Amino acid sequence: MASPAPAQSELDRALSGDTRALARLLSLVEDDSPRMREVIKDLLPRTGRAWIIGMTGSPGVGKSTMTGALVGAFRAAGRRVAVLAIDPTSPFTGGALLGDRIRMQEHATDEAVFIRSMASRGHLGGLAAATPQAIRVLDAAGFELIVIETVGVGQAEVAIASLADSVVVLLAPGMGDAIQAAKAGILEVADVFAVNKADKPDTQQVVRDLRNMLALGHAGPGGWKPPIITTVATNGPRDEGIADLVTRLEAHWDWLNSSGELRRRRQARAREEIAALAFAALRGRVAKSADELAARVADGTLDPFQAAEEILALGCTRG
Ligand code: GDP
Repeated sequence: MASPAPAQSELDRALSGDTRALARLLSLVEDDSPRMREVIKDLLPRTGRAWIIGMTGSPGVGKSTMTGALVGAFRAAGRRVAVLAIDPTSPFTGGALLGDRIRMQEHATDEAVFIRSMASRGHLGGLAAATPQAIRVLDAAGFELIVIETVGVGQAEVAIASLADSVVVLLAPGMGDAIQAAKAGILEVADVFAVNKADKPDTQQVVRDLRNMLALGHAGPGGWKPPIITTVATNGPRDEGIADLVTRLEAHWDWLNSSGELRRRRQARAREEIAALAFAALRGRVAKSADELAARVADGTLDPFQAAEEILALGCTRG
């Protein structure tokens, strides 16, 4: 059953720091409740201020540990931080995954840190649609920083980049090399490279491989050259590498703002979101007709161009 829309006061409570009300609001968004649209419309004027940082890389490379360390560093600087852990494969949600993760527990009682895992809850494409809305809710609730990371298997490694303002790509010795990362397309989405587990041998080899790969043609968008740093996430926020990561991220944020790239990225993101929503709606409306049209095209009684036009016409006319 769909959750009811929260009363206005409930929305205000969620946006003014009531963690339980905020969690309920996120469930509404995650459940794709019919009232979600109203909620998003109401809170939209309060959005746009948060800085969204994406953490990506193969499973086991240290994303969660690094996120914990980053949260610690940002908290030490007095900033409110939210973490969204995206698990495209798990039906579990509501913090169950992250609650178990020891490295996050030190932040569990800190009211300025909000940690939430988002799962697909079984409906296809649901997570892709829900995540931007969850980000809006956290943004409106005044979190200055929202860190998003993928949990579980790595198919969302690249997709996460389209949601973030700044993307950290993690690599680690013994965790698949730079060439594999290049094949998976994740080198292109990096704003900062962190070669994690720098306490292990072969770290410098990973750095050299990465440099070589980047020299082979990768250039950051619009004049930003993604730096390569080395980190030890298990040392926590006081690790030199983590401090370096914060410095590089801050520099990227300054560049995003001064170059106009932030606006360009957010517009590109909105364009993708609108297209995804429109396509999902269209698909929903035309599914049955599409089968009939496909049968006629396959039989040779209708040309595919005409069929496509009929589909588009359906999208325009039906509510
Ligand atoms: P994720 O799957 O990318 O989120 O990776 P996790 O954060 O769960 O880390 C996977 C494993 O690597 C855990 O056992 C961590 O303790 C370990 N790990 C993370 N960062 C480091 C590091 O800098 N050095 C070492 N030696 N181990 C690390």
